[in-house]
Amino acid sequence: MNIPENNPESVHSNRQLSVVLPRTLYLVATPIGNLADITLRAISVLEQVDIIAAEDTRHSQRLLSHLGIRSKLVAYHEHNEDKVTSKLLDELEAGKSIALISDAGTPLISDPGYRLVAQAHDRGVSVVPIPGVCAAIAALSAAGLATDSFSFEGFPPAKQGARLHFFEQFATQRQTMIFYVSCHRIVETLKDMKTIFGDTRRVGFAREITKTFETIKRMELSMLIDFVEADDNQRKGEIVVVVEGDIAVQKSSTQIDHYLSILLDELPVKQSVSLVVKLTGESKNDVYKRALELKES
Ligand code: SAM
Repeated sequence: MNIPENNPESVHSNRQLSVVLPRTLYLVATPIGNLADITLRAISVLEQVDIIAAEDTRHSQRLLSHLGIRSKLVAYHEHNEDKVTSKLLDELEAGKSIALISDAGTPLISDPGYRLVAQAHDRGVSVVPIPGVCAAIAALSAAGLATDSFSFEGFPPAKQGARLHFFEQFATQRQTMIFYVSCHRIVETLKDMKTIFGDTRRVGFAREITKTFETIKRMELSMLIDFVEADDNQRKGEIVVVVEGDIAVQKSSTQIDHYLSILLDELPVKQSVSLVVKLTGESKNDVYKRALELKES
């Protein structure tokens, strides 16, 4: 990390900030509530770029006015993505610099932009992330659940049948899972999670992160449902739910790794796998796959 030791003021110097380049698409993260969460680099890039493509121009205008940045906004959202993508790429190819921002947080994370970034790569345009806040990562870091391996799964479906089906695919997932949940469906969604993951699965609940009425909790699912049902305020605002991975699967994979690491030192793969399958009752395919991974690493 580039932190000057004797001259804290130089952190504000241009040397540390981005000099915006032509023919470059910047993906600029913006705050998810607290406006102080914008980075110095984000401000510098937004000040310098030729065009700012924003999901909701009226919403982003408020942030830009707060930062004292004169508007050069164009709308870029799911309804005009097709048309505007090619216009923005033409501008980039003509030498312009563009910043893509979403209403909040990191662009492309459950927000528009995928097509633009993919085609920028296809057309040889430089793509530069300006990292900052992301609700999923803020919630994960505060959830008190395993962070060594996790998956981000976006919004569960709105209809119950599809939602249950959606959660089923994660029932025995070992990794921590992150979901964005609409406050209008929070109780039903937590109840469906309970059906699939069980009463005692631990979950992180992060609501209104960085805002005045922030709630950060970690509880078992059945307790969280009681907590949310008992307080109307917990069913308002923006919510991230972080679900613990399947502990039984985690334990068994640790045990498999332990046995394999001992046996593979002494025996060929086939024999090691056969012994571990006998010892643990796990599927031969899974153990074999893991043995090959361990061998390679
Ligand atoms: N791009 C954003 C990001 O980087 O987090 C996410 C945009 S997505 C359309 C909006 C969802 O993100 C919300 O429904 C909520 O699940 C989550 N979210 C955004 N801001 C939040 C906040 N301040 N507190 C909790 N969740 C938030």
